[in-house]
Amino acid sequence: MENKELIAMAKEVMQRAYAPYSHFRVGAALLAKDGRVFLGCNVENASFGATICAERTAVTKAVSEGVREFEKIAIVASSGEYAAPCGICRQVLYEFMPEGSVVLWSKDEGELERPLRELLPMGFRGEDIK
Ligand SMILES: [Zn+2]
Repeated sequence: MENKELIAMAKEVMQRAYAPYSHFRVGAALLAKDGRVFLGCNVENASFGATICAERTAVTKAVSEGVREFEKIAIVASSGEYAAPCGICRQVLYEFMPEGSVVLWSKDEGELERPLRELLPMGFRGEDIK
């Protein structure tokens, strides 16, 4: 699947973001290895700490549908600028796609794809616990 298609899907789901506090809408399109795409938007809460990012919404939807292997995730924000995933989302993505990549979008600069490992060097893995 082309990055452009994933970005288009992320823009579409961004419209469903629930962001009455920050007004910063984010959309994410997560491409699974089986070709399915899971979409997510940010869901804010009056108790700010309960806010869920678009990336984690997409991952949670996929895992709850029995899908755990992903190739890449496209992320767009209503600012039109690159919106790199926050630290928590980087770690959550690393759990399921350590070899995956992150595609960002900017209205002026276009798309930017980077390996997740570059965004989260030495990320923590479950096997490190053993
Ligand atoms: Zn996040």
